[in-house]
Amino acid sequence: MKVLVTGVTGYIGSHTAVELLAEGHDLIGIDDFSTSSPKVKHDIERVAGRPFTLLDLDLRNRCEVECLLASGEFDAIIHFAGRKFVGESVAEPMQYYERNLAASVSLAAAAQRHEISHVVFSSSCTVYGQPTQLPVTEETPIAPVSPYGRTKAMTETVLQDLCDATPSASVLALRYFNPIGAHPSALLGEVPSGPPNNLLPYIMQVAKRVRPFLNIYGGDYDTHDGTCIRDYIHVVDLARAHVLALDRAAETTGFEALNLGTGIGSSVLDVLEACEKATGRAIPHQIVDRRPGDAASMFADPSRAQQLLGWKAEANLPEMCLDHWNFERNLDVDALSA
Ligand code: UDP
Repeated sequence: MKVLVTGVTGYIGSHTAVELLAEGHDLIGIDDFSTSSPKVKHDIERVAGRPFTLLDLDLRNRCEVECLLASGEFDAIIHFAGRKFVGESVAEPMQYYERNLAASVSLAAAAQRHEISHVVFSSSCTVYGQPTQLPVTEETPIAPVSPYGRTKAMTETVLQDLCDATPSASVLALRYFNPIGAHPSALLGEVPSGPPNNLLPYIMQVAKRVRPFLNIYGGDYDTHDGTCIRDYIHVVDLARAHVLALDRAAETTGFEALNLGTGIGSSVLDVLEACEKATGRAIPHQIVDRRPGDAASMFADPSRAQQLLGWKAEANLPEMCLDHWNFERNLDVDALSA
């Protein structure tokens, strides 16, 4: 297929581009490089062994989006581009509504106008908010508790309406749990811009001695060791699911949402221990107050993805931490300390 990939030089976009190229798809990637670098193109091509086209395009620019979709003859769109931090979304909600929601609406409208029927959308388990029942299934109520989560839930609704009104359309919304790790080649991975918000990048910077210690947000949750539980999934497993989702989108119509996780919950201290083993270094840490808005425990029931895509996450936590470390250890320290 000829596939438009938005946010292609980002963390999940870049790993998915490799898998798509390996499967023989033709890619046109776009990015505005606000949180990633055009240099990633070279690394994607080096890992995949095939070239693709990369365009500098901000999805908020409706005219450019319209022109691209009018002339591109795309079979499908995989839509990653957007911001992803809960805390930032609380401080700057309009930026999230513009970049995540409004940009997705204009992309979807242009896709409908130009009869691009198949869309895979990068959603998040954040749409479930603070679920009261575990594991989280796709029937768990949608109840986001942050502007970021609301932009993902609202975009899903927009795409669902698009499908209801367009008999030929198919949309798969992939609800990611906690993606970590990096490509085993150590050429692709997550490059945080500024101090990291997420657990793994932060731990790795402590391991590199860029930061002195990890703050663990809360040690008194109702979990086996008092720290929060999440479902960490290797980014390459996640990337593989997108290729299968694209195949399914080409064969079906209508809207489907799928959880992408391992089904296994790990606490912050479990992750810390796995990272100490992977890096061979002690990771200084201290328990501090809870972070507002954190759910005590979140892990997926990934059985629908297994049933519909024939997909299952393969990597375990030690493998994820090792791959993450092998990428991160080579990153420029000056860039990280910004
Ligand atoms: N966390 C932490 N210290 C940090 C960053 C995260 O203790 O510096 C915890 C956080 O409270 C949560 C887990 O690690 O329980 C995963 O957080 P992250 O921000 O990576 O993902 P989230 O699940 O919040 O989207």
